[in-house]
Parts: sequence; structure tokens; C-alpha cells
Amino acid sequence: MTDRIRRHLESTVYDGPVMVLDLERVRDNYMAFAKALPDTRVFYAVKANPDPGVLNLLAELGSSFDTASVVEIDMALATGVSPDRVSFGNTIKKERDIATAFARGIRLFAVDCEAEVEKIARAAPGSRVFCRILCDGAGAEWPLSRKFGCVPEMAVDVLEHAHRLGLHAYGVSFHVGSQQADTSMWSGALAASAKIFAECAERGFQLSMVNMGGGFPTRYLKDVPAVGQYGSAIFEALREHFGNQIPETIVEPGRGMVGDAGVIQSEVILVSKKTQAEDEIRWVYLDIGKFGGLAETMDEAIRYPIRTPRDGDRMTPCIIAGPTCDSVDVLYEKVPYALPVSLSIGDMVLIEGTGAYTTTYSAVAFNGFPPLRQIVI
Ligand SMILES: *Cc1c(COP(=O)(O)O)cnc(C)c1O
Repeated sequence: MTDRIRRHLESTVYDGPVMVLDLERVRDNYMAFAKALPDTRVFYAVKANPDPGVLNLLAELGSSFDTASVVEIDMALATGVSPDRVSFGNTIKKERDIATAFARGIRLFAVDCEAEVEKIARAAPGSRVFCRILCDGAGAEWPLSRKFGCVPEMAVDVLEHAHRLGLHAYGVSFHVGSQQADTSMWSGALAASAKIFAECAERGFQLSMVNMGGGFPTRYLKDVPAVGQYGSAIFEALREHFGNQIPETIVEPGRGMVGDAGVIQSEVILVSKKTQAEDEIRWVYLDIGKFGGLAETMDEAIRYPIRTPRDGDRMTPCIIAGPTCDSVDVLYEKVPYALPVSLSIGDMVLIEGTGAYTTTYSAVAFNGFPPLRQIVI
């Protein structure tokens, strides 16, 4: 929560859930990344929050952009940045989308297998490619696990294939898992990257870049290390594994750039119980749920801080659910959430740390509920 968001919500009445995002916080976060990793280029992961206000500010501050589709590429280019500040970082791309990206001037692409290399060689000849390696996502609250990347031994072959097909085999990428609270997790992936660099050099071509992905956390209920601590751990790991030949590096923060800049205001629609028993657990139904933007509560992975106007009263464990007619639209049940006993129908609650992965995850019109509204201040 920031003072600007608090003042905004005090002075404006909204009917329905709204996410208010403070650009001053995004600016602070960008500056913190730039300071923590001074020799590393920042490619903001557009999917976390593609609002034009966010993208324009980051472009102005010097950020580059990691995109996953032609639409995201166009959003990034709409800020006025040159195409060399945009990467097509999705390893799963249609060949015609690669061709469109190439026509827009994009020359940096992610791959994780030879078939994808071949698409790029045909549709974006001469471009730079980096190969994503698997990371198990240990220690992350939102692991990205097995869907992206190949084993490091295979990456050498994939990059050699790119080299042979006339592409610029440029480097290696990994993502240690989103909301990664362990600053030491980059070290293992950097060790694997250094090995790939050495093996490619033995095969006669030189890699130059390591893309160290995202994973930098937002503070939810638990404390997380500051971005400076990530910077030091990463720098130490680079020195350990690459010695005095530290490669060009980039990072792709999404959550860590915008998560704590946003707050959702939501209304309590109903407080009820399933039996008349005195000790029966209370159900609290909000006007936002899994389909309204809180998809990351899936498996109760992300636990958002929730503030109420009655904080300080006696607390009681509650099941929190969303407003739609789908029984999976329950936010917290396996581990109930403590809320004030006095919380009542019509109360407004504030769900903090919701600047990332909320507006983009909200459904278009499930049950007729409109997508999550966003106000950028
Ligand atoms: C989603 C994504 C990111 C951003 O991850 P965060 O954990 O939000 O920082 C970065 N890089 C790639 C390739 C991604 O898919």
C-alpha cells in the first residue's frame, strides 16, 4: 500500500473490484533493479502487467521488454523503443508470428529445441537466439518447472544447430521459478550456463549472453530478501562460475517490478456459515475471485495480504471465496485465512501486492462479471 493509492481510494468511489497501481512504486522498483545489477540489462516481462502507463514509464527509464506474442511485441513497440530493446522470449512460437516479429525488427529469440531453431532460421534469418535450460523451480512459490527449457547437455546441440543454420548462437537463458525467495537459486543455473559456454567454445563458436530470467519476489505475507541481496548473490555466482570472463547478462523481472505497486479494492458480498454450529467456519465471499484476477491463488500458491476496515478486532479463521458460480472459485480453504469476526457484508477490503499477474489473468465475462478494472496513478 502506498499513500498515493490510499488517498486515491479514499477520494474515489468504485462500483466493483478495482486495482489501483502506483507508477511511483514501479519507478522505485526499476531503479532498485538498476542499482542492484548495474551491469545487467533489464527486460521487463510484459505479461506481468502490460498497461501502457507501466510500459511507457519503463521505456523512459531505459528498460527493454521481454514479450511472448506479437500483441505483446506491439505493446512494447508502442512505447517508441527501438526493436533492439524487445525480445521474443517465448519458446513456443508459430512460425508466422516469428516472421511478423522479424518484420517488426525483432532480432532476439528464445528456443529450447531444434524444431524451434529451424523455424527461426527460416522466418528470422541471421537473428540472435538463446537456448533456455530447465530449472526445477525449487524454492519458488509459483514454479515454472518443466514446460520450458531443455537439459543443459541438449542446449549445446540446440545452439550448435542454430550456429550451423546461420543464426547467431547468442547465449543461454533460465528462469528459477516465480516468487523465488532463495537468492542462492541462480548459482546452480549459472554453473550450468558456464558449462554450456565452455562446450560451445570447444565446438568452435562463442556464446556471449546469459539471460537470468525473472523470479524476483514481491512481499506478500512473508518477508522476502531485498533486490540488492539478489544482486549480490547473482554477482558472486557469476564470478564463481565465469571467473574474469563475465558474460553480458540480462534479467526479466515481472512480479518484482510491479507486484507491490498495485492494490485491489474488493467488497464483501456475503459472510455465512454452512451449519448453525457455534464453531462452524465462516465463509467470506468477495466480489473478486480466481476468475476476476486472483488466478495465482490456484492451489493457494500465492497468499495475498488482505487488509480490512476492522483490523484490530478479534480474528477468526475464514474460507475466502469469489463471486462466480464455479466451485473452484475459492481462494483460501485448505489453509483458512484469519479475518476479523466483525467483518460484514458491504465492507471494503484491500488485497495488497496485486500489481502483477491480476489484470492479465482476469476472465473477459465469466458469469457476466467484467474484467478487472485497473487505474494507474
Ligand atoms: C513470466 C516470465 C518472466 C517474469 O517472471 P517473474 O517471476 O514475474 O519475474 C521472465 N521471463 C520469462 C521468460 C517469463 O516467462
